[in-house]
Amino acid sequence: MRFLFICLFALATGGFHLHAEVSVRTDFEGGNAEVILLEQNPVRIRIMPALHEGRGWPCWWSLRLEGLTAGQLVTLEVQAQTRPFRPEQILSATWCQPTRAAFSHDGREWRHTDPATKAEDKAFIYKVTAAAPVLHLAWGPPFVPADAARLLTTLEEKLAGTGSAACFELARTRGGRPVKGIRIGPPDSPRQAWVQARQHAWEAGGSWVGRGFIEWLAGDDPEAVEMRRTTCVHFIPIMDVDNAALGAGGKEALPQDHNRDWSATPVYPEVAAAQKSLKEIQARQGVDVFIDLHNPAAGDKAPFFFGPFGFESMSGLRRHNYQRWIELAAEHISGGLKVEPRYRFATYVKTDEERARMSSGWAREHLGEAAISVTLETAWNTPASTVEGYLEAGAGLARALARYLK
Ligand SMILES: [Zn+2]
Repeated sequence: MRFLFICLFALATGGFHLHAEVSVRTDFEGGNAEVILLEQNPVRIRIMPALHEGRGWPCWWSLRLEGLTAGQLVTLEVQAQTRPFRPEQILSATWCQPTRAAFSHDGREWRHTDPATKAEDKAFIYKVTAAAPVLHLAWGPPFVPADAARLLTTLEEKLAGTGSAACFELARTRGGRPVKGIRIGPPDSPRQAWVQARQHAWEAGGSWVGRGFIEWLAGDDPEAVEMRRTTCVHFIPIMDVDNAALGAGGKEALPQDHNRDWSATPVYPEVAAAQKSLKEIQARQGVDVFIDLHNPAAGDKAPFFFGPFGFESMSGLRRHNYQRWIELAAEHISGGLKVEPRYRFATYVKTDEERARMSSGWAREHLGEAAISVTLETAWNTPASTVEGYLEAGAGLARALARYLK
């Protein structure tokens, strides 16, 4: 009787793994994979990032395997999406194939896999040994709207009583989702900075850098405490909430992505709201610094800043401020993800019209002569491109900003 009970219990709880079927789940925030093949024994999965029509590059992928047995070896193969994301445009595989993917057993702590090997057909092959029945695998450590909400609430609670932090809802997306942010520091401070991430939804590393940035600012370092007294920082961890929630790439979405939407008539409510807020702050106190957080291409092995076009011929205060910024950034973003000491310029954007529709260009146009507007592209395809590496880079960014605004 007891044996029968144990058997029934084991069946009810999935305790007999001999018959367990491994399944792939993507029905969660940021989940995305088109499964091409799933073999059970040994476990072998082949995926490509699922295409969300009109929602930009199919490069981000994130999935959860269930029904595994501890010790079981999982082989994951990742190939490029075969269908076009825009008419006649197929995305190169390099965007969906990090040398090291991310894995987790609880969805909270993320580690790198070993470097992938390359199949004959150019798919990347990752091997991970499961330590539990559930295994999360992703392009990089995910950062989804729920993570953003949790982060902002935690910071607001931590700083409650100091009167220096307040969460806000920047806008509701076209999909009806809230775009959340936090303001830290006195709203009427003469020093104002705006930091935003994830205009491109797939660039999850930008949000992790943002988290490192804002956690340093909310922390106990005397410089951070001082900065909270003297500077007001407006921080939005995810701009393209809809695509981040759907697991879509966002970049080159139709009719344009968030970072080409900073026109006089934006398509995205969150872009319009950011413009409106920035204009109001500009009118009241003036914005000192505008920072947009991104991830670059697979081959970019160190973080770098995109600076203003025409920097070399710039003079006066503007030139001085941009120069001072890159020097301070290089001094303080100096850990595993060490930032390049010189600006790069987004020369691949050819026309003035398109340059003006980028948030960095809009900020240069609409903020004061003394303001700086920079884009941080944090390398995602290096051994240091981990949660810890991103957080460290973000803390360095915050220290650089503290020094810059002194
Ligand atoms: Zn980007």
